[in-house]
Amino acid sequence: MYAYLRLRSQVSLEQLCDAFDDYTHSERFVLNEMAHRALKTTASAPVVMRASASEAGLRKREELVERPFTPMEGGEGGNVKVVVRVRKFIKRELDKQSPCLVEMIPETQQTLLHPPTIPIDEGRGMRKNLEKKDFTFDKSFWSHNEADPHYAEQQHVYESFGEEFLDHNFDGYHTCIFAYGQTGSGKSYTMMGTPDQPGLIPRTCRGLFERIGAEQNGSITYGVHVSYFEIYNEHVKDLLTPRTTPPTYLKIRESPSDGVYVQNLTDEPVKSYEDIERLMRTGDLNRTTACTKMNDTSSRSHAVFTLTLKQIQHDIATDSTIERLARMRLVDLAGSERANRTEATGQRLREGGNINQSLTTLGRVIAALADPKRQQGSSRPNSRQNQTKRRAEVVPYRDSVLTYLLKSSLGGNSKTAMVACISPTDYEETLSTLRYADQAKRIRLTAVVNQ
Ligand code: ADP
Repeated sequence: MYAYLRLRSQVSLEQLCDAFDDYTHSERFVLNEMAHRALKTTASAPVVMRASASEAGLRKREELVERPFTPMEGGEGGNVKVVVRVRKFIKRELDKQSPCLVEMIPETQQTLLHPPTIPIDEGRGMRKNLEKKDFTFDKSFWSHNEADPHYAEQQHVYESFGEEFLDHNFDGYHTCIFAYGQTGSGKSYTMMGTPDQPGLIPRTCRGLFERIGAEQNGSITYGVHVSYFEIYNEHVKDLLTPRTTPPTYLKIRESPSDGVYVQNLTDEPVKSYEDIERLMRTGDLNRTTACTKMNDTSSRSHAVFTLTLKQIQHDIATDSTIERLARMRLVDLAGSERANRTEATGQRLREGGNINQSLTTLGRVIAALADPKRQQGSSRPNSRQNQTKRRAEVVPYRDSVLTYLLKSSLGGNSKTAMVACISPTDYEETLSTLRYADQAKRIRLTAVVNQ
């Protein structure tokens, strides 16, 4: 039997995968590989691709897979998802009876920021004309009041996009989810969570092994590796090895085959969720935390948790194997607040400077990727390789360790999600986070093919 895939001129791999919804995972795996190959070799479109069952190892199937594909450029469904989550009131805010400045409209995914009634800089004799601001993101998570019917708990956040990102990994995409926001805005809660309320990282790891268990049918072999490192003052530290005095900093390398990587980083093979849980505990104990005025356990480093999924498909008919490797990076960024707000001095000030530098560079990378002018203008505008090359030249990945290491997750066909975490009471920092997130939302790195 034959499986037919009709490829229009501008079809993304994501859309192609959607067309495979009716197939089992192992069938999709083979179809995906074929599609990747076809897209690489196809010079013009539309194309009808035909694959024999013996070649593809497919079950008998007679239906024709043909769905209307629409180009994704500029529209919804690009490679970057931006969501915002407002955390609930903490004790300090409840004690001060701080008013809630954030409003979310679930139907439209709008986030409204209301100005405080008392001018912010009154103490310094400055009055500011603050306005109500209105933003729209892919999702707005209202985690501010448990009594509210739209209250977004941890499971809801995971189901809203964490699961989808796991699907992307199984489909062979590199992915990256990062939490951005001021200290105390709920980044660690969202990413790691608490033992009672696990966040995206533990839920994703659990989901990964549940899926591997469910997909296990003999034709695909799975391998999972975990690494966990932090970037502190522009140095990379392995969180899975015991701390040393003085600290051991790892070097960053780049190779044509592996891209940018951390040399000698522990990359532990794991067989179960319990194995990962043990590593998460080790890593969290090793994380650098320090006291700042804003939050006693605030993290001053970026923590990067990486899951690497290797899938090996053995094709009995041709006695060949297809290997696919996808990496998921889950990043808890350091607090985005400006250094002067924390009244930091000495070491803390230096940390603040490096954090701001790397987040600013991340912002510039996002801006560069979002700017169509920087992605065009090559002498051969229709050449995909040329565009990629040119983008790599102008996007300032190398300006910070964070962006350099996230390079493969912030461009090309990788999928990125940013969770902008906000406090319900801090107008200025919340506005700055929402603006940053709004910039990220503009990235439409399209997986346009056959240009
Ligand atoms: P950050 O990592 O941004 O510094 P945290 O994740 O440590 O912030 O959050 C600050 C405090 O608020 C913690 O006590 C955390 O448990 C609590 N918190 C954050 N978000 C939520 C939420 N959605 N629901 C309940 N508590 C939250």
